[in-house]
Amino acid sequence: MRSVTAETITPIQLETLSPSRASDFKLCPQLFKYKAIDKIEVPPTVHQARGTTAHLALQRLFDHPAGERTPERLYNLFREAWVELREIEYPEMFESQEEEREWGIESLGILANYFGTEDPASIEPIERELDMLQDLGDMTIRGILDRMDECADGLVITDYKTGKAPPERYAIPAFFALKIYALLIRQQTGRTPVTLRLLYLNGPTVYEIPVNNGQLDAMERQLNALWSAINKALETGNFPARPSRLCGWCSYQDICPAVRSEDVGQPAAQEAA
Ligand code: SF4
Repeated sequence: MRSVTAETITPIQLETLSPSRASDFKLCPQLFKYKAIDKIEVPPTVHQARGTTAHLALQRLFDHPAGERTPERLYNLFREAWVELREIEYPEMFESQEEEREWGIESLGILANYFGTEDPASIEPIERELDMLQDLGDMTIRGILDRMDECADGLVITDYKTGKAPPERYAIPAFFALKIYALLIRQQTGRTPVTLRLLYLNGPTVYEIPVNNGQLDAMERQLNALWSAINKALETGNFPARPSRLCGWCSYQDICPAVRSEDVGQPAAQEAA
């Protein structure tokens, strides 16, 4: 089993904050430090490789005319994307062709679920993989939004997930990053998205919540408070660990002093992008 390599550790000033790093800090400041400050490298997982490849395939699916957005097209796009990404980002992901083949078959099975969640022939996204960079007060937020659609009621923003969908009662925290994107959209366009969607291929499950200006104002206050807390942590060097059930999914559990490995449950499936 490959392990975390703790070469590093040169603290840096944080210039931008991504929605996913903001989520990390909220979850566990120590996790945030490992990722965003120390930048401790973690070997990529098969789940991450699947997530990145599926995102690219789904993005490219909409390059094709509506009538050609078929499962076969999506599978081919996944295969092509994997060939590109394997060389650059995941050269040592699999020890054998058989392992890689099994992963590919499982990935295509998960990808097939996409067509049970929506009909891509009926959708013309107005944005895909939108690279967002936006000042909010004295912080700069940077992140990539998977998709934005113009629907009859207004703007709908969607985040694709290839990890397993959480039970509905645990789904709300997963909208945290999407609320930040909604805030950025409002800031940039003056329009407030009406719906946030989490589209879990591994289920498949779609969770949707409405969003309004009051919620986004609250998110802006929350983000400002989080940014103050991050800066305070940077000044003091105090990034408290916050052990929870999620430690079982944490890539840093082997080096985290707050967690003894025998206390941590093994994940059933790792969350991917
Ligand atoms: S193992 Fe748990 S406590 Fe440690 S950094 Fe990860 S999430 Fe935080």
